[in-house]
Amino acid sequence: SVRTRFAPSPTGYLHVGGARTALFSYLYARKHGGAFVLRVEDTDEARNTQEARDAIFSGMSWLGLDWDEGEGKGGDYGPYNQSERLPIYDKWFEVLREGGRVYEDGGAWRFRFERKPVTMHDLVCGEVTIDYRDESNTPDMVIRRSDGSYVFHFVNVVDDLEMKISHVIRGEDHLMNTPKHLQLFEALGAPAPQYAHIPLIQNPNGSKMSKRDVGAAVGDYPRQGFIAAGVVNFLALLGWSPKSDEELFTMDELVERFSLEGVNRSPARFDQEKCAWFNQQHLLKLDGPAFAELAKPFVEQAGLPTNGDYPAVAAMVREKVRLLAEVPNAIGFLLQDDFGFEPEAVEKVRGNAAAKDLLAALAGDFEGLADWSADAAKHQIGETAKAAGAKPGQLMFPLRVALSGKSGGPDLGDILGTLGKERCVARLRAFVS
Ligand code: GLU
Repeated sequence: SVRTRFAPSPTGYLHVGGARTALFSYLYARKHGGAFVLRVEDTDEARNTQEARDAIFSGMSWLGLDWDEGEGKGGDYGPYNQSERLPIYDKWFEVLREGGRVYEDGGAWRFRFERKPVTMHDLVCGEVTIDYRDESNTPDMVIRRSDGSYVFHFVNVVDDLEMKISHVIRGEDHLMNTPKHLQLFEALGAPAPQYAHIPLIQNPNGSKMSKRDVGAAVGDYPRQGFIAAGVVNFLALLGWSPKSDEELFTMDELVERFSLEGVNRSPARFDQEKCAWFNQQHLLKLDGPAFAELAKPFVEQAGLPTNGDYPAVAAMVREKVRLLAEVPNAIGFLLQDDFGFEPEAVEKVRGNAAAKDLLAALAGDFEGLADWSADAAKHQIGETAKAAGAKPGQLMFPLRVALSGKSGGPDLGDILGTLGKERCVARLRAFVS
């Protein structure tokens, strides 16, 4: 049966590269009805932190990458923290010692490689061979330090063996470690899992993505107003392709469509603008109330009221924003009279005497309307323009800027209807004064 794992080292926040590795492992397990294991590789005591552990767990949970075994879940192959598995490593070390496969070198212990070519058949990268007959390039490796602790290669292999992992999906930075791991599996008398090394992630300019690059930390995404569905879709296409030009997938669709054959060998290009685009596509799938609910914390944080008209007002900008964090700025002018202006748009209208005259005339005509509605207001715009010998289109942009301070935004009719007559008149008068 298929068993995959994500094996992060809790030394920093959850990186998009790690999240993508976790996603591919998750998708592969779900697609094949298998299990997805979360194993924490916390052997580097000096660099591990509780914050990093928490960031990994919360990042994975936010993305919806639920693990079947590991932290908070238990499982038959625990413990799932490497720091708690020392007796298991000691046991397998004894197997190597009894088999004559390790020797002491100054208090540390080295693993004796078999001097032969070792070929791995990677499910993404194809065949990779390392020739261990060349001893100078492949010296026997230390697997146990003089303080009794074990190195990454050994514990990683023992855990994959003990946890019955069938498919190891990990970053390409580990590709050259794998022949070493195959040697260890053979020496331990166990079949090796299948390996799939997924391509590195680069910045848009082709440089290697580092921890400090914009968009690197998964933990930053929720507060920037990304939703998990958008980020998951974006991450999936970072190195995987459905072999068609489809781009939009839900998690369920990804589970159905994902395959290791669809993983590209060339590096993936990270582009947060593209991620924002995916986010927008998934926001568009929400209905108005669901969108308003998700945007609420951002609107509250901006100090805007979220009672009364708020859900309807939020729904008006559903098609206008890419990130939930853009919502407060997009709707602030509909919820309160104190709102920001785009200086360029304002200057453009204020510097146009004809437009100002039209707005002043419109203020008076609006005031005279007995029954206010979006349609009545729009009709009046036509009349006012006609009376001045202008086209209604000449009034639209100035009116939008006067009412909202912005060059773009919700439908003008929605704005007129929501603000109501008094506020429209007051804003027009204030603008032309
Ligand atoms: N702890 C290793 C890492 O974070 C895991 C490598 C693997 O997946 O085998 O790079």
